[in-house]
Amino acid sequence: MAEQGKGKDVSRDSTSGGGERAADRPRPQASPQQFDVDADLDKNALQELFAPVAGFGVSFSTIFKPVATEQYPFEKVGTFPRYHGRHQLNRYADGMEKCIGCELCAWACPADAIYVEAANNAPGAQYSPGERYGRVYQINYLRCIFCGYCIEACPTRALTMTNEFELASTNRADMIYEKDDLLAPLREGMLNTPLPMVPGTTDVDYYQEKVTGPTPEQVEWVREHRPDDESLEAAAKAAGSRAANRTDALAGERQKGSGR
Ligand code: SF4
Ligand code: SF4
Repeated sequence: MAEQGKGKDVSRDSTSGGGERAADRPRPQASPQQFDVDADLDKNALQELFAPVAGFGVSFSTIFKPVATEQYPFEKVGTFPRYHGRHQLNRYADGMEKCIGCELCAWACPADAIYVEAANNAPGAQYSPGERYGRVYQINYLRCIFCGYCIEACPTRALTMTNEFELASTNRADMIYEKDDLLAPLREGMLNTPLPMVPGTTDVDYYQEKVTGPTPEQVEWVREHRPDDESLEAAAKAAGSRAANRTDALAGERQKGSGR
């Protein structure tokens, strides 16, 4: 019997109900791996030796990898081609605006970031093919979440998104982009709006991209109404060379016809 007041009787196994002594049970055989004390000691000694510099392992291994840090804004890295950046209001090849002021983009916007006011095109003030154009067009970039729903809703592909992402400002008012901020710049040979439609065409012809640039008639109209327009000179050249090409093509077709 264990002596009273000297602690627990360790000679009895508490899990066996007290009947069997632990010393009587067969001992499990130790595997060489379990009790390779010398190897464990070597390992611990090595670990202790390298412990002060072990934390630098990641740093040292990273030194030899290519640098991933981008030096923005000094070095700009391009975006993916379909990146959703600032919006753009596009033009047809002669410079006419594609936006017809239908407001579908504004209705599709989940953040209520777009405001459009349409107006009627008139003979002396034609901004887009067809009846209406977007007179006021605003996008509030404090609200926009760049989801792209607006560009999906646009029936004329007037609204698309560019890759421009530098839209920060310290002024809230600057974050509301107006039509002038969003309208695509004139490409070489385009005329500024307003201008008459290409004679004999409809809005469907424009939509089907049958208009490939300004015609001499459009150039003449702009020269008459806005003689100082900066787009005139390049547009006149473009219209002249296209007219010459058309004449050459017609002459060629006539020659072919007479030779048959
Ligand atoms: S990208 Fe989305 S949130 Fe931004 S204006 Fe278009 S629909 Fe609205
Ligand atoms: S951008 Fe497109 S959807 Fe928006 S008002 Fe203009 S034509 Fe309509």
